[in-house]
Amino acid sequence: MDNHATTAVDPRVVSAMLPYFNEKFGNAASRNHSFGWAAEEAVESARGQIARLINAAPKEIIFTSGATESNNLAIKGVAEMYRERGNHIITQVTEHKAVLDTCKRLEKYGYQVTYLPVGKDGRIDLDHLRRAITAKTVLIAIMYANNEIGVIQPIEEIGKIAKEKGVLFHTDAVQAVGKVPVDVIKDNVDLLALTGHKIYGPKGCGALYVRRRNPRVQLTSIIDGGGHERGMRSGTLNVPGIVGFGKAAELSQSEMAQETERLRGLRDHLKEGILKGLDEVYVNGSMTYRLPNNLNVSFAYVDGESLLMGINDVAVSSGSACTSAKMEPSYVLKALGVNEDLAHSSIRFGLGRFNTPEEVDYVIQRVVEVVSRLRELSPLYDTAKERVHLSKTN
Ligand SMILES: *Cc1c(COP(=O)(O)O)cnc(C)c1O
Repeated sequence: MDNHATTAVDPRVVSAMLPYFNEKFGNAASRNHSFGWAAEEAVESARGQIARLINAAPKEIIFTSGATESNNLAIKGVAEMYRERGNHIITQVTEHKAVLDTCKRLEKYGYQVTYLPVGKDGRIDLDHLRRAITAKTVLIAIMYANNEIGVIQPIEEIGKIAKEKGVLFHTDAVQAVGKVPVDVIKDNVDLLALTGHKIYGPKGCGALYVRRRNPRVQLTSIIDGGGHERGMRSGTLNVPGIVGFGKAAELSQSEMAQETERLRGLRDHLKEGILKGLDEVYVNGSMTYRLPNNLNVSFAYVDGESLLMGINDVAVSSGSACTSAKMEPSYVLKALGVNEDLAHSSIRFGLGRFNTPEEVDYVIQRVVEVVSRLRELSPLYDTAKERVHLSKTN
């Protein structure tokens, strides 16, 4: 249940990829023989499949090694290309590290970055955004949906503001594509990052959408070489990976409606099961603006590490991040104002295509059992219960 970290490659994707390892192993850039043509044809077909998933044109899709690279290319590429126009970038505090660390790097080179705060619900305030824009602003980078709390940002409104002000808009849509309908035209998105391995495709294969008209977005490349991908990203294309990514995109699109319904059902069942079995459980982030497959909850009065150890037969993520020295609470939960203890005792569930209702029932039972047992040992929980009891008696 850790499908925000990665997903299993769908068997139909594996089948689509297999011929491209040995039978059709050509280099898509080889123009002189049929091996090359077959590879190129497969790449172009995948480009179309990925473009359709986000309502883009095939030529607007640039293949990369994954969303980390796509985010780097979008932000560094715009920053350098539009340096004459301005040096200011706006992003927000709960972005993925691929965006935050890229912005930090640019700060070292003299760029100015505004990190917008988020509310308790995990969303930015559009008035903050409007006020942050200056004559020097060249880019707004705000993620579509968060990878820890699943909270969806007001993308259409951000796109509208960016367009009004003539500022480019980049969004990291890794967690959103395939889960909710993403439309770069409707939302006025100029650049968008996505990746294969979060949508049941292979790892190490991603893409960046780069708008070609109205406006035509230009980028300085960060990897130079043979001039592949319209000069924006050199390097021999990962043909089997791209074929798999394309197939995964096609499946995501054709199955999105049903899959979303099914995952939302499982997620809601998981949430209700946990809340029915336990008190003092807090959901982190908006439930209204949220991915259908995400649940992020804090369990008061339990130690986070003991909790994870207790359910170590279930794959989930915790609200703690291991840094070299100690456990740090998640910066995302901190940004929502979740206190440190609660952040440490929180769990992120990410449901996926291959999870079953039986698994969800099992997880509910395990979580309720382990949290109850840990609380029996907790003097703090005892005291809290006592207090509630006394106030009721009074
Ligand atoms: C996983 C993830 C990334 C990184 O993608 P890779 O393809 O693994 O480099 C970036 N942003 C978000 C929101 C993610 O969830």
